[in-house]
Amino acid sequence: MSSSFQALFVDNTEPFSVAVKSLSQGDLPAGEVVIKVAYSSVNYKDGLASIPDGNIVKSYPFVPGIDLSGVVESSEDERFVKGQPVLVTGYGLGVSHFGGYSEYARVPADWVVPLPDGLSLKEAMIYGTAGFTAAMSIQALEDNGAAPDQGKVLVTGASGGVGGAAVAMLAGRGYQVVAGTGRTSESEYLKRLGAAEVISRSEIYDPEAKQRPLDKQLWQAAVDPVGGSQLAAILSKIAYRGSVAVSGLTGGTKVPATVLPFILRGVNLLGIDSVLCPADLRLKVWERMAGDLKPADLEALVDREVTLDELPQALADILKSNTRGRVLVKVS
Ligand code: NDP
Repeated sequence: MSSSFQALFVDNTEPFSVAVKSLSQGDLPAGEVVIKVAYSSVNYKDGLASIPDGNIVKSYPFVPGIDLSGVVESSEDERFVKGQPVLVTGYGLGVSHFGGYSEYARVPADWVVPLPDGLSLKEAMIYGTAGFTAAMSIQALEDNGAAPDQGKVLVTGASGGVGGAAVAMLAGRGYQVVAGTGRTSESEYLKRLGAAEVISRSEIYDPEAKQRPLDKQLWQAAVDPVGGSQLAAILSKIAYRGSVAVSGLTGGTKVPATVLPFILRGVNLLGIDSVLCPADLRLKVWERMAGDLKPADLEALVDREVTLDELPQALADILKSNTRGRVLVKVS
């Protein structure tokens, strides 16, 4: 391992700064596995981790990055050996424990996932937490009865990371996907990912219109990383015994819904948390992402690939929805 290496540092001493700095192994937090990081990615949460009032980072100075893929440099845990390709997402990574925006990372062995056969280190980070969350959402919908022959599936925030991954994976599985977006200018991209139909946010939820607690049943299921008032509108339009997998809050945290879709149509609202997802489900979902959920053209999700030096701009961009699909970080 090199005596010093590069990492992106966020520091809240005035003025708040986000910059690449040199670290040494002694700066890394405790853990059994040292990983030479190949790739990381940019998620909405990483954007929040790099601003002063983002309420994500527990203490400063800090290295963000909630995702990483790379090769084991050393391991004190017998489950992992030097040279083994692995990935880490969630847990405390990039939140309370130095994250993936670093040429080396040291993490607890229980967080480490062996890279599944059928995925490269780069592909694992094209997915990253966003792709994992989309796959967990599909798993939850299917566990509750969703199937390709049961009707259309709505995906909200479709131009974003979770949304784009969900569109591509569902379409690859043979679902008829309706992509909901605030950026209908991205229709061509969304159709390339596999969307059968692209609809605007205002078609899903029109703040000016009177909301009906039970509306026309349009979709068998929905993958929703947006939340907010739009989620209430979606629940009123889900088919009998259908489900919504909710993972995000870009549209707000308050959901002004009624109980009627649940008690009169048996609709399921399924919460998706990728952070503390149990290890057995985590492994199963990553296996599916390397198998039946892997889109034919995973690279189509990549907006751009950036270096550590180019990261601050990409982190600012994701908070303004100035990214499309996934931003990949080539770390070393
Ligand atoms: P992105 O920024 O890549 O995508 C978010 C998308 O949401 C945007 O591209 C946009 O899509 C849509 N959007 C943005 N603002 C609004 C708004 N005001 N109203 C409605 N839609 C809006 O982020 P990610 O895909 O990385 O994350 C999406 C959400 O999922 C975040 O809230 C994130 O915190 C959450 N998340 C949760 C996880 C979990 O474990 N539960 C894991 C990963 C992410 P468009 O332009 O197409 O409308």
